[in-house]
Amino acid sequence: MRPVPIALSPQRTAALAMPTTGPLVDSFGRVHTDLRISVTDRCNLRCVYCMPEEGVAWLPRAEILTFEEIERVASVAHELGVDSVRLTGGEPLVRADVTDLVARLGRIGFSDLSMTTNGTGLARLAPALVAAGLKRVNVSCDSLKPERFASIRRRGALATVLEAMDAAEAAGLPAVKVNVVVIAGVNDDEILDLAAFSRDTGRIVRFIEFMPLDADETWERAKVVPGEEILARINDVWPLEPASERAVDPAPADRYRFLDGRGEIGVITSVSRAFCGSCNRLRLTADGAIRNCLFAIGEHPVRDLLRSGASDAELALLVRQAVWAKRAGHGINDPSFLRPARSMSMIGG
Ligand code: SAM
Repeated sequence: MRPVPIALSPQRTAALAMPTTGPLVDSFGRVHTDLRISVTDRCNLRCVYCMPEEGVAWLPRAEILTFEEIERVASVAHELGVDSVRLTGGEPLVRADVTDLVARLGRIGFSDLSMTTNGTGLARLAPALVAAGLKRVNVSCDSLKPERFASIRRRGALATVLEAMDAAEAAGLPAVKVNVVVIAGVNDDEILDLAAFSRDTGRIVRFIEFMPLDADETWERAKVVPGEEILARINDVWPLEPASERAVDPAPADRYRFLDGRGEIGVITSVSRAFCGSCNRLRLTADGAIRNCLFAIGEHPVRDLLRSGASDAELALLVRQAVWAKRAGHGINDPSFLRPARSMSMIGG
């Protein structure tokens, strides 16, 4: 099922007028400054929590935004106050010449320009990415045991990803952040090993609750390990204290530092303790739709506008409408919750 284009949320727009100047704000007053750009739906891995093992139908090339089109949307968003961009996918490093896109975005002048990658192509590309202006990288790595890593990702090797982390730092990037999707009964017995890895390497491991965005639709609540439990298990061994405050930090991870000074970890509690109230993010899919939430059912297609000669002002209006239509929360815990039609790799995590 393809996502449906949506218009403005009728109830709220009837009551409130969308501002056409000033910050990029939704109808609940949340100011949006962070744009996640999916540069491709393609991936060279098949992680169990994200993609099907076989039979993936890639988007036709003509439907994928060109670098010029992505740059244009990013530039309009920048004018509207977006100051931070993260490239994702699919796997961003499988898109040919992605360093060229990084350079284009770098010239727009975002204060932060980062990427989330599975790490498989990172060792080779890290120097070029740094030269192009990439400032930070998050590398996904859900296990420190080679065989388990292979069974979760269904392709690729742990050693390649660990080498990629070293290579990224050697190329000049700050300590990488390591994304771990925690699934009960799959890798939750490694929480302490991963915390130790964080303490030993200075890399911030971010434990992410498993979200209902897997293509195989095997998600169930029993597979979610709540962030609170993850923290408790680590805190029992290495005491932690909060290093961030949700009220002032819109980042998805709640950060905690080790009391003995050996670095920090993060937990992303999207399921057990949603942080929608401080959400400042919008997304651009590889095929040119603006999504105002990972779990949005509707989308605002920008590609046709781009390809029909629309002005920057028209593009900006669409971006504003997309943000204005955002719901108060993702609603995972509401009885009426519906999974979005697209899974994570199609949205851009
Ligand atoms: N290919 C890149 C990678 O593997 O990091 C970028 C895309 S991936 C969709 C972005 C992030 O989404 C990764 O950190 C991944 O672990 C996370 N992710 C994917 N599916 C998820 C799910 N069902 N629940 C929680 N996180 C998920």
